[in-house]
Parts: sequence; structure tokens; C-alpha cells
Amino acid sequence: MGLPPLTTSSRRLLARLRDVMAGPGTPQERLDRIVRLIASDMVSEVCSVYVLRAGEVLELYATTGLRSTAIHQTRLGVGEGLVGYIASQARPLAAANAQEHPNFVFRPETGEEDYQSLLGVPILRGGRVHGVLVVQNRTHRRYTDEETETLETVAMVVAELVAGGRLMGRDERHALDGDSLLPITIHGVRLNGGLAIGEAVRHEPHLTIQRLVADDVDVELSRLEEAVAEMHGALDAMLADRKMVGEGEHRDILETYRMIAEDAGWLSRISDAIGGGLTAEAAVERVHSDTRARFRNQSDPYLRERLHDFDDLANRLLQHLLGNNGNGSMEDLPDNIILFARTMGPAALLDYDRRKLKGLVLEDGSATTHVAIVARALDIPVLGHAKDVLEKVEPFDSVIIDADNAQVLIRPEDDVHETFSATLKTRVQRMAAYASLKDVSAVTKDGIEISLNINAGLISDVDNLEETGADGIGLYRTEIPFLNLTEMPDVDKQAEIYTKIIEQADGKPVIFRTLDVGGDKNLPYWSDAGDENPAMGWRAIRVTLDRPVLLRHQLRALIRASDGRPLSIMFPMITEVAEFDAARALLDRELKLAKERGRNIPETLRVGTMLEVPALAFQMPALLKRVDFLSIGSNDLFQFLFASDRGSPRIGDRYDPLSPAGLSFLSQLVDQAGAGGVPIGLCGEMAGRPLDAMALIGIGIRNLSMTPSSIGPVKTMIRSLSQGSLERYLDTLKDVAEHSLREQLRSFARDHGVEI
Ligand code: PEP
Ligand code: MG
Repeated sequence: MGLPPLTTSSRRLLARLRDVMAGPGTPQERLDRIVRLIASDMVSEVCSVYVLRAGEVLELYATTGLRSTAIHQTRLGVGEGLVGYIASQARPLAAANAQEHPNFVFRPETGEEDYQSLLGVPILRGGRVHGVLVVQNRTHRRYTDEETETLETVAMVVAELVAGGRLMGRDERHALDGDSLLPITIHGVRLNGGLAIGEAVRHEPHLTIQRLVADDVDVELSRLEEAVAEMHGALDAMLADRKMVGEGEHRDILETYRMIAEDAGWLSRISDAIGGGLTAEAAVERVHSDTRARFRNQSDPYLRERLHDFDDLANRLLQHLLGNNGNGSMEDLPDNIILFARTMGPAALLDYDRRKLKGLVLEDGSATTHVAIVARALDIPVLGHAKDVLEKVEPFDSVIIDADNAQVLIRPEDDVHETFSATLKTRVQRMAAYASLKDVSAVTKDGIEISLNINAGLISDVDNLEETGADGIGLYRTEIPFLNLTEMPDVDKQAEIYTKIIEQADGKPVIFRTLDVGGDKNLPYWSDAGDENPAMGWRAIRVTLDRPVLLRHQLRALIRASDGRPLSIMFPMITEVAEFDAARALLDRELKLAKERGRNIPETLRVGTMLEVPALAFQMPALLKRVDFLSIGSNDLFQFLFASDRGSPRIGDRYDPLSPAGLSFLSQLVDQAGAGGVPIGLCGEMAGRPLDAMALIGIGIRNLSMTPSSIGPVKTMIRSLSQGSLERYLDTLKDVAEHSLREQLRSFARDHGVEI
């Protein structure tokens, strides 16, 4: 399926287009020049560019030959007319008698009744249709395959102009759009609550192709050859590295990559595109777009999955070709970015400027939870499962992400925008009020002191200790830095990270939780276990007890980082006391080793466990003898207690921790821990919700750990609460058998002036 080489005249056309692209003028002026150039070169009376706008509308952006008054007026739906048909199929169409084609529709404003024949090709970039490029002739012209090829290649140049929303100044664009781009609201799943207002930015891998047209075909062919050899070498090295690849699905994927990478058809199509006058990188992009478009209508899920392989391979090859020169600039991005992606890795999220990044919308939330975890650490709202959102949003669209209500509003009406802006302003003011509480203590009206701590994962999270005035870090999720690395960090690297955390915490206590990977948190460099129910599968302590070297390295790094200072460690997902003993034994071995090596031993060492699996609650007497503290992981605990998946949009909220069963279970744990003299805290999401935190304090919890932004609201609640009267009120609810006690608790708060 090779591409026929382009003729000399086509190469000349490409070279002239390159000059226009590099020349002066606005993008619109360049586009106008380009259509004239194509028309004259292809001896056509008409050349037009239709651009695909949000809402599946193809709008005439430039034309020579049709009436210029139709520009920005003529609009066709995808599938409508021949232009719409080409967009829907993402394939070229040549018709000697266009008006006889079953899809032809007549648009009087264009004056196209004079033209008999039509050749149109999709404008593709990254496999997405961005528009349609059309030439038309008065006669019944039969366009040759070669001409189709030429137009397809030329469409790549046009794609550079069309994609990315730079074709018109955004203000001009919005002004022009008038009522054509209607506001839409898309519902999804709340992955992290919050509200933000900003401008849409589509996350695309930051590889920009600067040079499209080859100066010398032979040079480009040898660049391709070299890049392919480098890519094969890198893939072979990856496959040979058993430590990294291991066995299982991960390996199969890489094997398939290699097969596709060696696919002669793929490579020869790229070479042919170079023969046609493109640079090696443009040829890769061209063939990739083509492949993606062909796969687009594929309903077989296996084949659709293979598309991701092609995406990845094309990107890899581009990286080898472009080296470091392909990374696009982040500077042109707006100050309030609402990022849209189908899915993305957590590291990619961190490429964006933290100060500018205000929200994240994912089309496909399922496989991406670890990006959501990082986003949560950045404290930005995140919406998942936002169906088809990438088709509906355009770059720089005004956007409101209201993750609290699981929705994103695209191009909202002015009054809606104003309402949300007012809400946001109030929230900002409230945040400022909370900030002023930073130095006051979290004491109830009747003098009960509550320890408020933050959950952290990134080094930068530690700054929140100072900003919020929290007592310490109640949960440091060590897996977060692991998720952002390209390979498993060794002891030195880990020690370096933990040292920074301890030093930045500046004497405030930090509870390090050992690796909680698996479940929804898969390391990019590690194949997952393929469990059907990963939350109940091979994760957390189950993994690290089965791979004790991993845990020992982590414990060694923690001891090294503490360097004689106090150290607190806890283990995740402990299900039975024997597991705690096994983990503790590994810690003792590491302590002994550190002593033998003459290292500083922690001044004080506190070892605890998360309480996330109900079974552990039935071994409390034995457990309490062994631990220095307990931390209830309510996110997991309640999903197991209620047999109700915490991530499922259908049942995630079905059962309420503030229910008779939930509260009585927690209160038994608190009573037992109290009787055993072991401090017990809670570090799940509920700790950060003022009403839930109030109930927790009511049943006797005195230590809470939460997202930093919740410290202010929870502290405000505490300072307006009288714990004694709440405790007495809770006693009266003991025999209530309702689904939830939330309403009763809310009434209590209202009646007693508790600020929730
Ligand atoms: C929990 O389960 O409540 C918890 C804090 O752990 P994570 O959310 O990291 O699973
Ligand atoms: Mg957990």
C-alpha cells in the first residue's frame, strides 16, 4: 500500500507552500494565499478549506473560486454533503460528477452550481479530522490517484495552520462565532471536587513539527533509517531488561510494539511519503494520521486498542527524529488552564505550570486514576468519564469545571459565567478567612484539642504545612513520587526524596506510609497483576511482602533519611496481625543492618498500621499490643465494609459512613484503641468534610488527616463545636435504624451554631 512518489511539480507546490507558511501575515491571510496557490497549481477553479468546529460543524474558512461572502457563513454538519461525508469517513473522495453523488447537497450561497467535479481530502493531524480541503473544476474532471496523493500531502501543511485554534485570534474567533458554538454541559464523574474557571487547553504530546518540506529526500531517508534503528535498539534493550519488563501483559504489549515497529508496510509508507517531498518527521505524522483515520471506524475493540500502539510508536519515532527540539512551548498557554485529555500519565500533568493549571477534565477516567491522584495532590478539580468532551471543546474556549457537581460547562452563557464567578469569589474570600486561622489552634468550645494534619504525596505538598498551620503530615503517600518516575527508584533516590520531605517539614511529624501500589495505582514501569477486582487484589502490603526486597529498600531509605531524627512509619492494607508482624520483622532487620553499618538510628521510632480492611478490626487486642498508633483509611475501609466500590459512579455514594453501621463500627474501633492506650486517627477523605469530621470528633477521634484545603473549614467547624453536647446527642441516635444519620447531624449543627 505504498504511496506513489510525488511529481516534481507537486514538490514544487510543497516548497511554495513552505514559503507561504514561513512568510508574513496572519494565519487567515496565509490560508487565503494557500488556497490560491493550490488552485493554480492543481489547475482547479476552486480550492476551499472547511474547518471542523466544536459541535461537529464544518465551516468554510477560506476559498478561491466560491463566493467570498460564503466564508464563515457556509456550515455543514459532519456527514452532510460531500464535504461532511469526507470528514465522516476521514477518507479522500474524487467525483467527476459531484452533483450526481448521493451525498451531494446544494448550497446556493457558495455559487458552486457551476462546478461539476470535486476532489476532497480530510485535513488530519494526530489522526483527528480537523477539516476538509477541496478542489473543484467546471469540467467533468477525473482526478488521478497522484493528484489525490498530492492534495493529501498538501492537507498536512494546512493542518498545521488549522489545528491548535491559532487560525484566528481567539477574541476575533469568539466574536465571530456568535450563536453558532452553543454552550454545552457535559456530565462525568467527580474525581476530585472543586470549582475552577478558565480556558480550555487540549493536552497533546508536546511534539511539534517545525519542518514539513524536505530539502533533500536522501537526507530525510537516512534520518528515518537512523531513527528507526535507534528506536529498534531502545525497544530491544527494553525487552532484554528482565527487571523492567518481567513477564505478563506488559511484555506482550512490548512484543507487539516491536512487531509493529518492524512492520515493512508501515515503514515503506513512511519512506514513500518522504519520496513525496516531506521531511522524515512530517512523513511519520502523515502516515500516522492516515492509519488512525483508517482505524477510526473500527468497532473491534482489539483493533481499536492496537491504535494506541500506533500512537505510541509514532510518538517514539518522532522523539528519536526530533530529539529535544520537538518539545513545544508551554509559554503560549493561558493563565487559567483547564486541561482536557483523553487520558494522560501523572508525569505529563506535572509538565504544566502549577500556578496556571486550574482543572483537569478526562474523557476516559477509568485507567487514569493515578493522574487523578496527582491532580488531587495539586488540589485542582478533576472530572473523569466526560464522554466525547474532546470533540466538543475547542482550544481557548471559556470553561467552568464544577467537579463538585460532576460537570463541565463549555462556553457558558454570560449570566452562568457570572454566577459561577461570584461563587468562586466567595470561595476565595472564604479561603482567605481560613488562612487567617492558620495560627489559632483547633480546640472545641469545651476545650478539646484536635490534631489536624495534612495528607501529602509530592514534595511541594509539604509547603502546605506552613500555609495551613497543620500539626504535621498524617499520611505521606510514598507511592506518589514512584508514580512519577520512569523507573523504580533505588535506595539512594528514595532516601533523597524522604530527606527532602523531613527537612521541609521542619520538625513537624511526618507519617510515611509504605508503598501502596497496585489497585488503581500502577507504576508505569511495572506490569500490573491483572486482577479482576484490583482494589481487593495484589496491592499495598500484599505486594511488598511478596517482594520483600522492595519493602526493605524502602525501609532502608526511610531509616537513612531520618538520620537520627524521629521517624514514623505505617503499613497499608494490613489484613491480619501476622502481616503486620512480617512487615515489622523486615523493619527490625533493616534497623539492625543500619546499626551494624554505623548509621544513625531514628531517635524515636513509631510504627503503626492503616486500618482499611474490616478483618483487622477483629484482632484488635493482639494488634494494639504491637502498634504505636492506628490510622483509619476510611476510603478503603468503607468500600470493603459495605461491599461497595469506592470508584463506581453508580454505587460510590450509595452507603454513607455516617450511617448507624458506619458510625457504630468506627466508634467500637475508637473505644478499643482508647482502652488499649493506642492513639487512633483517620486519614480518609471524610476527615476533610466538616460534617463528617464533626461526627468523628463526636465518637472520640482526636486526630484527623486531610487534603490541605480542608484544614480551614474543619478548623472553623471545630472552633464552633461543643463536643460534650454532640456526644450526648449521638447517644440518642444509638437505636435509629435509618439509611443515614447525616440529616440528623446537620440539624444538630444548625441548632447548635456549628459552622459546617
Ligand atoms: C484510605 O483508604 O482511606 C486511604 C487514606 O488510603 P488511599 O486513599 O491512599 O487508598
Ligand atoms: Mg487506602
